[in-house]
Amino acid sequence: MSSEKPEYTFRYPVKAPESGSRRDSLLEMIRIQLESLLGLLSLYQGGEEVKVDGFRLMNEAESIHPIFLPQIDKDSNKAKVEVEVQAKAKVKVEVKVKAEGEPKLEPQPQPWPEPQPFTSFQRLRNADLYEPRIPHIQGVLESLLSVITLESDGKPVKIDGFRLKDLNHWLVPSAGDPAEVFDHLATRCDCDCSFCYLRGNPPSLALEQPQRKSEEEWEEARTRLNYFSPPGKRALFPTLGSPYEVLSHPRALDLLRELREKTDRPFRLSTNGNRLTPNFIGALAKLKPVYLYLSLNSSSPKRRAEIMGAVNPETAIHSLPLLGERGIPFAVIIVPWPFPSKEEMLSDLRETVAYADRHNVHLVEVSLPGYSRYFSPEPLFDREDVWSSVVSEVRVLRREVQCPLLVKPSLYEETLHEEKFNLPAVVGMVKNSPAAHGGIQKGDLILSIGGLKVSSRPQARDLLHLHHQNRTPALSLSIQRGKKILDLDLLTGQHGYPYAPETDHHLGMIFMGAGFRPSLLEDLKTLITNHQARNVLLLSSPLVKPVFLQILRGSSLFGGIQIRVEVPENRYFGGNICMGDLLVAQDFIEAIRDYLRKNSPPDLVVIPSSPFSLGQWRRDLEGRVFTAIERAAGLPVALLDCEPIYD
Ligand code: SF4
Repeated sequence: MSSEKPEYTFRYPVKAPESGSRRDSLLEMIRIQLESLLGLLSLYQGGEEVKVDGFRLMNEAESIHPIFLPQIDKDSNKAKVEVEVQAKAKVKVEVKVKAEGEPKLEPQPQPWPEPQPFTSFQRLRNADLYEPRIPHIQGVLESLLSVITLESDGKPVKIDGFRLKDLNHWLVPSAGDPAEVFDHLATRCDCDCSFCYLRGNPPSLALEQPQRKSEEEWEEARTRLNYFSPPGKRALFPTLGSPYEVLSHPRALDLLRELREKTDRPFRLSTNGNRLTPNFIGALAKLKPVYLYLSLNSSSPKRRAEIMGAVNPETAIHSLPLLGERGIPFAVIIVPWPFPSKEEMLSDLRETVAYADRHNVHLVEVSLPGYSRYFSPEPLFDREDVWSSVVSEVRVLRREVQCPLLVKPSLYEETLHEEKFNLPAVVGMVKNSPAAHGGIQKGDLILSIGGLKVSSRPQARDLLHLHHQNRTPALSLSIQRGKKILDLDLLTGQHGYPYAPETDHHLGMIFMGAGFRPSLLEDLKTLITNHQARNVLLLSSPLVKPVFLQILRGSSLFGGIQIRVEVPENRYFGGNICMGDLLVAQDFIEAIRDYLRKNSPPDLVVIPSSPFSLGQWRRDLEGRVFTAIERAAGLPVALLDCEPIYD
């Protein structure tokens, strides 16, 4: 690593317990260390996993001590944390965004800041999610400090924290995505959206970061940049918080410029558009390939100011043609917010989609609105009514506009309106893409690609991606349009803005989400077989359940096996949140307990892995490891590997 740039210090707090505060401190020291270790690893004997819940000291003949405290203690601990931790206030940007017409924003070489003697303590709960070996070290240190005092030069030394020594020890596998670095600057936002989901975060969410000055965040980011190695497929473990807005950070462009020297991968940036002045767009254009997810929400300056608190609402609205001039493809994101009325929301949705379509948007995403109980303890609107009205409007608009128009989560539209799920049907084509030039139309069902039959969406997407990667010059497709079967030839080199080969992977064909891989059922069968189970409880979500049941009915893999599919209530977020990926371990525990009140115990409980897939350590959004479910429920629990469903 370069020695010129000062390195950021990752620091964590330690609280030495009061001496004599515990009944049997030596025993507790061992218990804490064991409990902590068993959150990091599984024990094996002769290749078989061994489950343990207690220990006996060699110097004791009989006593077996529990490793895990009764859940009631943990809950009260957690409740204490919740009281202590206030909902994180949104950090406002420290710089005034330059208005259009102000002096040109030229790239300025910025000196590296002087290293500060102290950086802020990182959040241990965040490390619980991404690098739980750090909270383990903290737990071990605190348990040791409950029975010893450290000394130096013969004098007792008090400590209140520790720091990571050599950051090379803390590298993790990396996909080489530049967002692994720049997302660490998404710590602030200069909007104040009425619907901002970040207002509704539960206080115990592990996605928290220390509140720091922008310069300190920049110091951490450039240290990350230093260790980010796309060829070596390594990067520093993340410390991501809830994502705000990268481009609101005063050092965003500095970081992106440095990053561009390391990778030619596209920068996929989410933005509220406040900074998209001509000069800023000019600066972004020098960093291509860049793709923007522009949270426009409304093409009306009045409504954008009202629902987003945007100070210069015209800046984002006027940015669409400027992005086109600079050749930067963008998606427009719209959160339809049903205030002051549903009718006003739908009318604005129509106008905003038409505006985006006129300006060569790559894709419009309509994100269905939701809120947690922390956002509003009272019901704000009828989710079913609002969501179904938005989807009906989108389906009408899709026939009228040229650009692809997607609803997210797309499973909602699919389960509401389609009879057969998971089909490789095209819902839109990117303008000027090989698909659009080749004659593909909305509603076409793909039957084969390059001579290979396809029957599911993931198959179609994978094959298209493969041909895209291999730069196949011409690709034959067989499609069904109404009752007709047609053969089409796509020329993969035939394209123009807003299609871009660097950011488009399916030749411009847009589908209703990623869909379910057929291999999911094979993986489920393997789990069931490995556990020799006949009676299985599968916990799903209201959106996934109907799709999963339909796929299951079409499979011959599960003869003689009973699979019950239940939907846990999302008590953690509450409100009208229904996404399965936002469930936490405690929601699954409650769901299993509810199930056992009315049914006999299953041989196996299967849970999708996606709510535990943010870090590599199988933790939920509170940083709690999934094995806590098995312990609390007293039943075997297995994770079924699947992708997050918000697509
Ligand atoms: S732009 Fe995004 S992060 Fe900023 S307030 Fe709006 S919803 Fe929240």
